[in-house]
Amino acid sequence: MSSTIDRYTWPHVDDSLRRAVDRQLGVSLSDRDGRGVIGGFEAEFAQFVGSRYAIAFSSGTAALHAMCVAAGLGPGDEIVAPTYTFFATATPFAYEGVRVVFADADGFGNLDPADLPNRLTERTRAVIVTHMWGNPCDMTAIAAFCRENRLMLLEDCSHAHFASWAGQPVGTFGAMAVFSTNQKPITTGEGGVLVTDDDRLRELALLHGHYNKRCFQEIDESAPYSAYALTGMGLKSRATTLGAAIGLDQLGKAELIESRRREVLASYAEALEGNPVVSPVLVDPERGENGLYVVGLRYRYETATVTLHEFVDRLNQKQADFDVPGSTNVIANEPLFHRSSRQQSWEDVPEVGHTDYPGAQRFIRSFFKTPLWGYPGDAAAIDHHVSMLVEMTKAVQR
Ligand SMILES: *Cc1c(COP(=O)(O)O)cnc(C)c1O
Repeated sequence: MSSTIDRYTWPHVDDSLRRAVDRQLGVSLSDRDGRGVIGGFEAEFAQFVGSRYAIAFSSGTAALHAMCVAAGLGPGDEIVAPTYTFFATATPFAYEGVRVVFADADGFGNLDPADLPNRLTERTRAVIVTHMWGNPCDMTAIAAFCRENRLMLLEDCSHAHFASWAGQPVGTFGAMAVFSTNQKPITTGEGGVLVTDDDRLRELALLHGHYNKRCFQEIDESAPYSAYALTGMGLKSRATTLGAAIGLDQLGKAELIESRRREVLASYAEALEGNPVVSPVLVDPERGENGLYVVGLRYRYETATVTLHEFVDRLNQKQADFDVPGSTNVIANEPLFHRSSRQQSWEDVPEVGHTDYPGAQRFIRSFFKTPLWGYPGDAAAIDHHVSMLVEMTKAVQR
């Protein structure tokens, strides 16, 4: 085995990616409308997801903000969000004065549909889910709950670009969905994409993050809000042309990225079959397909002699790249979600009582991850990670 393992980077910068960026440098560094590379990227992305429309933004967070505004949510409204997610699933809603009510996690770290009825009030207008670490949420149960209670269903698919539930791609279950294209399975460097099938929601999202030329070209003149086409609504969160060029290159390789990443995931699943200490976190393949963001792993304390952190430290001393994620946590207890309004004084930080979310806490205690790699030349690194993991589980097994 080679002693030097390349550090994981994403995406893999190859000749086609360099050529795509170089070509775009000769065309345009900034597009004011969707007629160039940005529109091209959006059309391909919509096709990739299986939705009618896609709009590119400067970040996933900006796209989530547009989603909140297009949904018409504001002060007085409540949205149910997962307490276990990357915080940007929920922070744009808090920014707009929407009260975010948090639901607990199931055994995959996903929003637990069984907890939804406990979070419903007369002010609930919408539910947002995140397909955590690529595993699709139970969309059958969640969509049924939203239908029965007339709630708008929204999806944060930032971890789940290749995921599906019951044969249906994620991002197509609700009124709108967002895919971050930061360091995610399909990347534009920085960026985010909002997808929807609905003309009005598309136009409202456009008006939130774009203005002037593009809004004049693409917003129906008979719509009352076309009056704001020149100015937009006060924000601008357009994507960059170089990002769109990178995204188009990545979408052109989507099948390769998917097949290689599925192979890598399968090699972990195979090597860990029957392992008493570590198992992959994967939904039943009969129910859904993983979205290929990371290799998610579950640690069984009761069968091991060391803590999860010690286990991961020992692995990383052997040139491996395993990680107990820190930025995804129980976010319900963050003070941002307890402010009375955007104008609340900086001196007056809200007191936050610590609410327990046993499902999320159970998941967090046992979860760790490693990169999925998925590019030419990664075989040695994958082998190294898989064999280190198997070896280490033998060393710590009770
Ligand atoms: C990455 C991510 C975001 C935010 O996207 P940015 O492009 O980084 O702004 C939102 N939600 C989830 C679940 C993410 O992983």
